[in-house]
Formats: sequence, C-alpha cells, structure tokens
Amino acid sequence: ATFGTLSDRLTETFRNLRTKGKLSPADVDGTVREIRRALLDADVALVVVKDFTSRVRERALGDEVSKALNPAQQVVQIVNEELVAILGGQQRRLEFAKTPPTVIMLAGLQGSGKTTFAGKLARMLEKDGHTPLLVAADLQRPNAVNQLQVVAERAGAAIFAPQPGNGVGDPVRVSKDGVEYARQKQYDTVIIDTAGRLGVDAELMKQAADIRKATNPDEVLFVIDAMIGQDAVSTAKAFQDGVDFTGVVLSKLDGDARGGAALSVASVTGRPIIFASNGEGLDDVEAFHPDRMASRILDLGDILTLIEQAQQTFDEAEAMKVAEKLASETFTLEDFLEQMQQMKKMGSMKKMLGMLPGMGGMKDQLDNFDEREIDRTEAIIRSMTVVERRNPKVLNGSRRLRIARGSGMTVTDVNQLVQRFDQAAKMMKTVAKGGMPNIPGMGPV
Ligand code: GDP
Repeated sequence: ATFGTLSDRLTETFRNLRTKGKLSPADVDGTVREIRRALLDADVALVVVKDFTSRVRERALGDEVSKALNPAQQVVQIVNEELVAILGGQQRRLEFAKTPPTVIMLAGLQGSGKTTFAGKLARMLEKDGHTPLLVAADLQRPNAVNQLQVVAERAGAAIFAPQPGNGVGDPVRVSKDGVEYARQKQYDTVIIDTAGRLGVDAELMKQAADIRKATNPDEVLFVIDAMIGQDAVSTAKAFQDGVDFTGVVLSKLDGDARGGAALSVASVTGRPIIFASNGEGLDDVEAFHPDRMASRILDLGDILTLIEQAQQTFDEAEAMKVAEKLASETFTLEDFLEQMQQMKKMGSMKKMLGMLPGMGGMKDQLDNFDEREIDRTEAIIRSMTVVERRNPKVLNGSRRLRIARGSGMTVTDVNQLVQRFDQAAKMMKTVAKGGMPNIPGMGPV
C-alpha cells in the first residue's frame, strides 16, 4: 500500500548505517543521498526533498549526532522529527464556528473523492453529536446530486439539493440557500460539496471562489487523491491561489500511491492535512496525525530493532554463505513472511465483506481470522537476522531470548513459531514430492 516502497527503502538505508559506530561526514552524505533518492522515487516534490535533506544533513553532521551514544539511532530520530515537520508538525482539528452553523466547503479535482469524503465527514460529525447538513453544489456532473443523495442516505445525514425552478444550475445560489436552510432548521454544520473538473481550470476556480465568498466558510478543505503523484504540488498550488483552503484531506491512502503527495502538499502550501481517507466505505477515514504517519513511513519499530541488532558481533555475510549451503530446503521463513503479508490482505477483505448485506455466514468465518496473530508472527520473524530466517536451526537459546525481547513476545512464542514453521516446511516438501500432506490436527486425509 501507500508508503510501502518508501518504508522499505528507508529501512534499507538505515540498515547500511547500523554497523557504524562513529559516523563520518561521508557516512552522513551517503545516507542523505539514499534518503533523497528514496523520497524522489516516492514522488515527493523536489523542493520538499531538497529542503528536507539539507536539514537532515545539517543536523546529522552536528553535535547531537557526534556526541550520541548510538549515532545511527540518532540519525533515524532526526529523520523522524523532520518527517513529522514536513507533514505539518502538530495535529490540527476541525475548527467550529462560535455561532452555528459551521460551514465546511470541499474543493478539489473531479474524482478526488470529495463526495465520498462528504459522507464520511457527515458520519464523523454525527458520531460527535453534531447535526450536519450536506449541500449538493456540484451541478456540473450530471449524476453528482444523485450521488450525494445516496451518500447522505448511507450516512443517515440530511441533504439540501437544488429544487427544480429554485436556482437549478447555479451552485453559488444553492450553496447560499443551503447555509440559510441550515440556519433555519438548526443544523449545526454545513458540508458543501462543490464541482471538480478533471484538470485545473479557470472557470472551476472562479466558481469555487464565488461559493467561498458567498458562504464565508469556517473551513475550506482541499481534497486530494494520494495517487496523483508529481502533479500534487501544482494542483495544490492552483487551488491555494484560486480558492485558498484552510486544510487538506488526503484520499485513497489505501491505494498503491507512492506517498509523495502526502509528503509534499502540507509543506508546499503551509496548510495542514486534517483527514486521511483510506477506503470507499463510510468509516474509512481518520484524523491525520503527522507523528503517526511519520512512524508509519519509517517503520520505526523495525528500524530501531535493526539498529539494536548491530550490536551483535557476528559477521552476517560470512554466516550467510554457510547458511545458504546449509539450506537444503527452499522454503524459508522469509517466504513464510511473504505469505503472511498476503494473508494480511484478508484483513481488508473482512472489512469489505462486513459492509455487504447478506454476508453473515461468511463474516463469521472471517471473524475467526485474527490479524493480530499475523502481526505477532511477523514481529518475531522481523526480529530475526536474514541468516536465521533462512535457517531457523541456527537459533540458540540466547538468540531466541533476544528475538523474544526484540519483538515483545515470549520465548515460548518464538519456539512455537519455529516449530510451526518446521511443520509447514515438511509439509511443503511432501507436497513438492507429489504426496498428500498430513496436516496435524486434521486426521488422516
Ligand atoms: P469526487 O468527484 O471528488 O466527488 O470523487 P468521488 O467521491 O466520486 O470519488 C471518486 C472515486 O474514488 C469513487 O469511485 C470513490 O468510491 C473512490 N474513492 C473516494 N475516496 C476513496 C478512498 O479513500 N479510497 C479508495 N480506494 N477509493 C476512494
């Protein structure tokens, strides 16, 4: 999903750093260069990358690192802090008007996820005890009003849509009337869904600016599709110049975006990301936390474990050769880890199926599927060295203890995993030889 590759690349970068005691300027430069490349490949805007890397470099060459007990770890910390900073620093919440109704206007390109987000926002507000009114001011797309009606119904929210003969075709008028209607009927928040085009155009901007002028919103949220890539910056700037916005909503973070948009927009516009959308369902949205997002990108737990492992003295490259010779089986814990990740996708399937009507029976089965179990297994495998993953037989008692500590599990957990893996590997071998596996606990097949 989003940031996957970026996370992997950064982890790899820090992996190279971890064996170093003191860092030389060349080490720092090498690391910064790798980070720069990883960010650019993730579609982060060049201006942002330049700014980011020069700050990291400056700090990494300074006292805080040279005096640190573990310089590599300190560099990771710096990268983390700077990431939080470009993501906007502090979390920013929605602001509400002192006298209701609070007016929230949505702007963005067509297909960015505005209408979907309108429903999500209405739902969130309702959960917080608000009484939102959705206003259908996208009169450009033939089906837009209809779509918002469907969304409103699913969210259980009220909607104000243009009536025939009452300003049809004039989104500014509809928006204004919508706010007035909310005032009369005492809805405390108004969400205005505006029209978007496939590309930025002057007419669209003027219309949005006119709606802004006519309704004087407390928040103007710019919805941007995380998959937009390098166009993120120019699009965001066009909307900032054309309408100006008070906050950003990142949508489609569940997709395969490389994450660049997320990392560029807040920094380039100086406007905070307030929400992140990560799915088509009404509940697939969350408040945006810059620090959590940075940790996610950096896979912080992972990297810090990696660095701790640096204190081990054994020569991995040498041991790897031996292990490769030892490994007569082809199925390794690394393959196992990969399978785990495949299974994790089942988690999203569960979420998806849960929303469909008539999936009761299926849902029961899926409920037995415990995603945390996979997370635990993953944590253990990730705490192992590559050599150990390829050949768990090399694991002695003290390594098992370390792995248990590193992954927050018990030695018994580690032992059980190794045992289960052993069984799985044997099974694989049987299958590979064309036999039927004898799955423990399932009786003779
Ligand atoms: P609008 O034109 O800006 O109103 O965009 P829509 O709300 O109609 O969304 C465009 C498409 O993107 C629809 O198919 C939505 O279901 C989908 N979509 C919106 N938000 C998300 C999201 O967070 N994740 C995913 N996967 N799809 C989304």
